[in-house]
Amino acid sequence: MSDPAPQPVVTVCAIRETMPGEQRVALVPESVPVLARAHVHVLVESGAGAAACFRDSAYERADAEVVSRDEAIDRADILVSVGTLAPDLIGRLRPGQAVIGMLRPLVQPDLAHQLAGAGVTAISLDGLPRTLSRAQYMDALTSQANVAGYKAVLVAADNFGRFFPMLITAAGTSRPASVLVLGAGVAGLQAMGTARRLGAMVTGYDIRPETRDQIESVGARFLKLDSVASSEGEGGYARALTADEQSAQQAELGTQIGRFDVVITTAQVPGRRPPLLVTAEAVKGMQAGAVLVDLAASSLGGNVEGSVADQTVMTENGARIIGAGNLPAQVPTAASTAYSHNIVALLGELIRDGILTIDPADEIQAGVVVTHQGTVIHPAVAALLGPSA
Ligand code: NAD
Repeated sequence: MSDPAPQPVVTVCAIRETMPGEQRVALVPESVPVLARAHVHVLVESGAGAAACFRDSAYERADAEVVSRDEAIDRADILVSVGTLAPDLIGRLRPGQAVIGMLRPLVQPDLAHQLAGAGVTAISLDGLPRTLSRAQYMDALTSQANVAGYKAVLVAADNFGRFFPMLITAAGTSRPASVLVLGAGVAGLQAMGTARRLGAMVTGYDIRPETRDQIESVGARFLKLDSVASSEGEGGYARALTADEQSAQQAELGTQIGRFDVVITTAQVPGRRPPLLVTAEAVKGMQAGAVLVDLAASSLGGNVEGSVADQTVMTENGARIIGAGNLPAQVPTAASTAYSHNIVALLGELIRDGILTIDPADEIQAGVVVTHQGTVIHPAVAALLGPSA
């Protein structure tokens, strides 16, 4: 009797990130043996994990092969990244090759167009259907938002001139900081829990009323506003408010903001610019030394008027508005480890019998597969590109 045919092996390579400030890596050493059991051979571009404290030698000990960028591009069936891909890399990919990352195709549809043109299968974790229970292990938006919420509190505490907890010492007693977190999604709830653990008095608010229980479960008080009714959208997300609702919300929030020492904002509406929650007028009502950390700050705007991503703006009344940049990249070891677990789970879904198997009819794949066989197959991305797709 002849031996059974050997199981095919898929070669996956974690590439070195090139975006300024990005310190994460898509695969960590502990994922290598897990992938080997699933018939995946792991390559790692030399230095890819260094900024996240994963040395080349740690990957080698886990039986991954450390390779140059050229070798990575030549040998990998699938290249995995955290962020978007550098233009020079895209130009070197070959038809049939696949890339997996947080490619933000709804923000950068041209990238999808290019990848389709190159015959590359592009898979983006930011399209994952998040409420599907079997997708939870792959949910990189959640794993990274958790890190961002945690780090936002540390950034706020670091920029605050007083203590977060109440401290009773021979030199006096300090009152605890009062912290308001706007938006109770993944990042917001993590921020509330983290600020509570640091000893602050925490209040949380979200436009979706069902978040009240979640806010209270992490030890925060729920801020109830009367001006805006529920704004439940689809899939557990909020819907965008009308202009009138938004002004009413801003006005009512404006009456509350001044009593907080720290405000952390995390509100987002999928596919829209972030809602403006804290007006310049509201910031004027804050005390000198107050700190605002805006997680939504980006080139599209933010939740706080005047916030600029990656910059700190001092206001005339002495408040500090911090436009958060890429916070998960600032906790790179934890963020990479969580992301790597998400990638392993996704590869487990995509690789069947040792072969990358694209099935757009599958609910998860319909969300994450953006391009395949020369076409932009993700309907929302294709719609953005119009006939050129
Ligand atoms: P997100 O980043 O889209 O938004 C953050 C929060 O901002 C949301 O809670 C939203 O309601 C709030 N918001 C939007 N506009 C607002 C406004 N004008 N005022 C105040 N708050 C406003 O949210 P997310 O963290 O990605 O989570 C979105 C949803 O997905 C939540 O319901 C979350 O529970 C759900 N989720 C479910 C799973 C799962 O089932 N496994 C996993 C992750 C997230």
